[in-house]
Amino acid sequence: MTFTTRFAPSPTGDLHLGHAFSALTAWDMAQAEGGVMRLRIEDIDQPRCRPKFEAAIFDDLHWLGLSWPEPVMRQSKRSAAYDAALAQLEAAGFIYPCSCSRGDIRQALSAPQEGTPAFGPDGPLYPGTCRGRLMATRQPGDALRLNMAKVMAHLGKTAFSFIETGPTYAGTHHVDPNHLLEKIGDIVLARRDIATSYHLSVVVDDAAEGISHVVRGADLFEATQLHVLLQFLLDLPTPVYHHHRLIRDVAGTRLAKRDKALSLSTLRKNGATPASVRDLVGL
Ligand code: GLU
Repeated sequence: MTFTTRFAPSPTGDLHLGHAFSALTAWDMAQAEGGVMRLRIEDIDQPRCRPKFEAAIFDDLHWLGLSWPEPVMRQSKRSAAYDAALAQLEAAGFIYPCSCSRGDIRQALSAPQEGTPAFGPDGPLYPGTCRGRLMATRQPGDALRLNMAKVMAHLGKTAFSFIETGPTYAGTHHVDPNHLLEKIGDIVLARRDIATSYHLSVVVDDAAEGISHVVRGADLFEATQLHVLLQFLLDLPTPVYHHHRLIRDVAGTRLAKRDKALSLSTLRKNGATPASVRDLVGL
């Protein structure tokens, strides 16, 4: 199998040093294995995406010396594939419609009997208000959630795992059903405003692009457990994962797109070179 990895940015802001580290790590691994790095534009959240940011992604990555096969996959063109995956989960009875707003969820979680709410990759764990609803009751604007307890009951003792090659968690990881129930819960798979979620689209697209190795930040390690579950439910192959360290600012905070100082465009304006960027991120 050809080593195939990808860099999958969202065009919602300028790329920063953390993105450069992620893209260069994926690129270096692909080079070392005689494989390819694909570029995927994760533009499902259309209201937040801007053509200028997409143009800057291509420009910054070319400047770093990276290249990728064309055409580039764009998530905004992939709704049929996401709908098919949702239909598969619906046929298995694993999803339900949900009309709760963030405010409704906050309110349900503030009820005294709920105790301290647990937090998952997308925020507080869903308290289950709409869990009993049938798909036939779906209204326009409803989100779709995974019924995690039902999925777990269905899987019974089935074990599934993934191989991790990153520095922090290297080894074979068995996904723990209790972890999925207690730390991830009824995750949103189709949003109120967008016909998919990051978790669903990334799983469907990694499979469609034949991604053999996913290289991503250690902050996504929790989400990866969910992605491996979704691959299992959708009969998709599980790639090898490599969660790399995170690039932090001087205060130790993970870089965000709103921090302009360490954006690649600012660094380039101030005279950085691809070699000095590699130095800055410790490559
Ligand atoms: N678009 C996601 C990001 O920029 C992709 C991460 C991933 O799935 O590896 O964080």
